[in-house]
Amino acid sequence: MCADQRIHGKMDGDTGKMRVMVTGGSGLVGKAIQQVLQEEGGREGEEWVFLSSKDANLLDVAETRAVFQKHRPTHVIHLAALVGGLFKNMRENLSFWRSNIYINDNVLQTAHEFGVQKVVSCLSTCIFPQNTTYPIDETMVHNGPPHDSNFGYSYAKRMIDVHNRAYFEQSGRLYTAVIPTNVFGPHDNFNIEDGHVLPGLIHKTYIAEREGTALQVWGSGRALRQFIYSLDLARLFLWVLREYNEVEPIILSVGPEDEVSIKEAAEAVVKAFEFKGKVIYDTSKADGQFKKTASNAKLRKYLPDFTFTPFHKAIKETCDWFVANYDIARK
Ligand code: NAP
Ligand code: GDP
Repeated sequence: MCADQRIHGKMDGDTGKMRVMVTGGSGLVGKAIQQVLQEEGGREGEEWVFLSSKDANLLDVAETRAVFQKHRPTHVIHLAALVGGLFKNMRENLSFWRSNIYINDNVLQTAHEFGVQKVVSCLSTCIFPQNTTYPIDETMVHNGPPHDSNFGYSYAKRMIDVHNRAYFEQSGRLYTAVIPTNVFGPHDNFNIEDGHVLPGLIHKTYIAEREGTALQVWGSGRALRQFIYSLDLARLFLWVLREYNEVEPIILSVGPEDEVSIKEAAEAVVKAFEFKGKVIYDTSKADGQFKKTASNAKLRKYLPDFTFTPFHKAIKETCDWFVANYDIARK
């Protein structure tokens, strides 16, 4: 189901510009896109605006319309979401369902009403079915219920794919989505109770080092995850915006061979901090989905030569960023 309308090089009729509005532009992924664009030095004909919730509460349709009216984007990268790690998801399935359903419906319908040519939204490998074969690919998103721990977030995110298919079939819109695996990097949410595993472990190791206490890793450490560095994801996002013209989603991930256990992830953080204290596994805490191994074959078909930052290097850069920015980091 490839859209006829090719967006590459297609600009706004009045100004010749591609005006890209990024919702959730102040978060982990949004900040990474900002950094990669700065490193690129900008492209002729592209204008970018990055929104935070202070610019518009996207739960509110009037505020959503007002921000589209203000910026009149031709393209949207839609990142804004209620986001959290396993334990926040387990506590707040209702909030994850409702917030994300409202935000996504407001953004996609408003984009449609304002004639936005292309929207790239963000799903997640967390939303994949609980009982499945591996590796999971893009065709399997809806094949059975998601893991119980995060069903609210998962079903809300899956509905983006329903939106995208329906906007294409009814209105010819090229609204698509990417499916990243667990993301980490500078500007993550390092809150221990609410955040994802890597920022949580980085913050906990920082405290354990400072206080001379043990590092507590939650769960057995046996669960498996693929991690993507936010700056690699940002580079891939720019490619999707500029070049990828399918309505079907695309998984943005390292390959199945680069999957690591939570224990290996914790060891990478310990190594980056040169932490010499004790490491304890608290098996009273949940492991969540044991694995959600994703195939990146579709990505590799398009971009066979894309190079991911080595895991240990990316972890070291993220730990260094957290230490250097401790006072301003979200925690
Ligand atoms: P994040 O760091 O928590 O950032 C969330 C962003 O959404 C922030 O810019 C936040 O604005 C904005 N936002 C939240 N509620 C909003 C609202 N009601 N109105 C307007 N803006 C709102 O999240 P992230 O990790 O960058 O995630 C970006 C996208 O990637 C999300 O769609 C997420 O589901 C997806 N994803 C993330 C991961 C991961 O491991 N982090 C993995 C797969 C997919 P403020 O800064 O103003 O609060
Ligand atoms: P998930 O990938 O969607 O399940 O979310 P997370 O990024 O929160 O990863 C959860 C996995 O990491 C589970 O297996 C947890 O048991 C494990 N884990 C170990 N320590 C921590 C921690 O400090 N915070 C979080 N969120 N998870 C942890």
